[in-house]
Amino acid sequence: MYAIAVHGGAGNWSHTPRQSALLGVERAAEAGRRILEQDGSAVDAVTEAVRIFEDDPLFNAGTGSVLNLDGDAEMDAGIMVGRGLRTGNVAALRRVRNPILVARKVMEMTDHVLLGGNGALRFARAVGFADHDPVTTQRRESWRRRRDDLEAKQGDDRLAALHAMLSTGPRDDDMGTVGAVALDRQGDLAAGTSTGGVTLKLPGRIGDSAFPGAGNYATTHAAVSATGRGELMMRFLTAKVICEDIWNGHPAHTAVERVLREMRKSVGEDVGVIALDSEGDLGIHHLTPAMPHAWGREGSPAIEVRMSA
Ligand code: ASP
Repeated sequence: MYAIAVHGGAGNWSHTPRQSALLGVERAAEAGRRILEQDGSAVDAVTEAVRIFEDDPLFNAGTGSVLNLDGDAEMDAGIMVGRGLRTGNVAALRRVRNPILVARKVMEMTDHVLLGGNGALRFARAVGFADHDPVTTQRRESWRRRRDDLEAKQGDDRLAALHAMLSTGPRDDDMGTVGAVALDRQGDLAAGTSTGGVTLKLPGRIGDSAFPGAGNYATTHAAVSATGRGELMMRFLTAKVICEDIWNGHPAHTAVERVLREMRKSVGEDVGVIALDSEGDLGIHHLTPAMPHAWGREGSPAIEVRMSA
């Protein structure tokens, strides 16, 4: 049997037409499902689902990534295969179209786990990824508005506003990270996650998507992709903790609720996750108002889509 689930990011989603968000997650899930249906691998299915999200400017990954304080798109992505715990990750990567494909090359062509910044970019070019500007007009305008608001403030007010922004927001109208988890007919599990990060982040900030065990993880028992404020996942190691819970015998749907309950108590609630276990049980949970997501499985031809779980 096979199964796939995808998410388009945890957040408010109050500024985006619901239909566009749902169409986006459906398209990504369906592309992955088709691969699994034809006996393709879980890693191919998550790669394709995430690639489709990255090319959709609605989502905060690849083209459409949010911008850092300097107005640049620095993108993070990670991919992981449960069998053999193989993973490839890129962080603060600029000017490529599909960070998830570069992360996959890191996994397949090097013995490294994570490449960052200029090194990641040089690697991407060396293995054939062309120059691409992922910054959309809409993201540029929203960045300019926010930067102008910040610059209009003086002295201590400006510092306080910067501090508030970096510690709690703004994520209000930012579409989140994208991610996918899949189980193929051979019983293999894989997870993939990609993001532009958080708006006006400090240049060089790296989030959970490129940090195995935090925003993305897969074992032979489970695959997890997380979204929300990356620092929470990096402190809690959310994806790894969910995988451990599943390894300890909890089905995915119980594990995600238990772990997010713990996160709410100890680090915060700007978080959402999708998880799949080796039995095909699916866990989808978020503590934010919304997280568009979709899933499909063997035997039910239609993709299910929801704005919140
Ligand atoms: N997790 C992402 C990050 O912190 C952002 C998001 O999911 O919206 O980089």
